[in-house]
Amino acid sequence: MPELPEVETTLRGISPHILGKKITGVTIRQPRLRWPVPAELAELLVGKTVKAARRRGKYLLLDVGVGHSLIHLGMSGSLRIIAADEPPLFHDHFDLVFGKQALRYCDPRRFGCLLWIDGEPESHSLLAGLGPEPLTDGFTGDYLFERSRKRTQAIKQFIMDSKIVVGVGNIYANEALFMSGIKPIRKAGSLTRKNCQDLADNIRFVLARSIEQGGTTLRDFVGGDGKPGYFKQSLLVYGRGGEPCTRCKKLLKEVRMNDRTTVYCVTCQK
Ligand SMILES: [Zn+2]
Repeated sequence: MPELPEVETTLRGISPHILGKKITGVTIRQPRLRWPVPAELAELLVGKTVKAARRRGKYLLLDVGVGHSLIHLGMSGSLRIIAADEPPLFHDHFDLVFGKQALRYCDPRRFGCLLWIDGEPESHSLLAGLGPEPLTDGFTGDYLFERSRKRTQAIKQFIMDSKIVVGVGNIYANEALFMSGIKPIRKAGSLTRKNCQDLADNIRFVLARSIEQGGTTLRDFVGGDGKPGYFKQSLLVYGRGGEPCTRCKKLLKEVRMNDRTTVYCVTCQK
């Protein structure tokens, strides 16, 4: 599933090809994504220039002056830059055409979306309740500490809640908790201020490192038929249940929490 680092890498990969460029065509082959692609979208976008492109959580926002186009990659979506006349494959659901190039969206499971936002994107229902970006100054240990007081929810679920902080997916939650020595099932409200500072630092670290590693795949966003933006990472716990802990060599424990794979070390994480 595309997580925040993949979405950020996608943004960086496609931006040079669409910024300041005029949309000359919109082709919707499959409007039934997670939410229907608005019928009037082509009319709204054609002839407009992409003035800015940014990410909020795992949403991509293309500012065309009179409004924004919002794209989410869902469970299996990807975007790449192709020659506009390249024949589409079965799961290539829409193209935004920029002259001879196009931004093509592929999504086998169709959980992604392409929507239109009038006015301020931050007040749109999908974005309004989102917590701070983990890689900005608004996300700190003190913030986590204040928000987690009296919360009995498990800390792992707490940091994966986009109302608390956006973009901390399952892999990153597992990794950051291990690096912080915090057991995923521990009550959020029981964390000390120091715990929260470590956790905030490590969340930032794992996300930033992943974006950095994704940077080496940027060329994959242009041409080819590869799946861009999903990169292998060196992980300490995720995907390593039953294998030895890198610190103490005890076998890592794997459990399901909220239907998500959770891996931790019973010795190193308190
Ligand atoms: Zn250990």
